[in-house]
Amino acid sequence: MKTTDDIQNDFPEFFKPLYTHTDSKTFRFYFETGKGWNDIIYDTCAKLKATGWDGFFIQIKQKFAELRMYSTGMTAEQFKILAEAEDKASVTCEFCGEPGILRKDMGWLNIKCDVCKKEHDEYREKKIQEYKEKQNA
Ligand SMILES: [Zn+2]
Repeated sequence: MKTTDDIQNDFPEFFKPLYTHTDSKTFRFYFETGKGWNDIIYDTCAKLKATGWDGFFIQIKQKFAELRMYSTGMTAEQFKILAEAEDKASVTCEFCGEPGILRKDMGWLNIKCDVCKKEHDEYREKKIQEYKEKQNA
């Protein structure tokens, strides 16, 4: 599975530093998506590069369980590549990259596989249990 560093290192032209702080520290582009979608984003960059896209991404995030890739201008052909990535993400677990479905978790929507759902549910149960024990202590 690709990392967000792989994505930025292989396609630096698509990811400008976010901003430079007053202390001159430059912040890299920040992905607001789980690692399970990294391969989809990487493939999208490769496809866009092949079309000669000369723009860049402004923000890549998960919103209401959907992959959103906000960017500067694109042709209809390039926009279609983004739409295909969003379609693929809608059936891909955002946490591990395996096939997933839409889940509602404590009011949050996301795409998860059965394994990640089970893991997250167990983690939440454990936290609730710990909290209850603390209250009773
Ligand atoms: Zn998963």
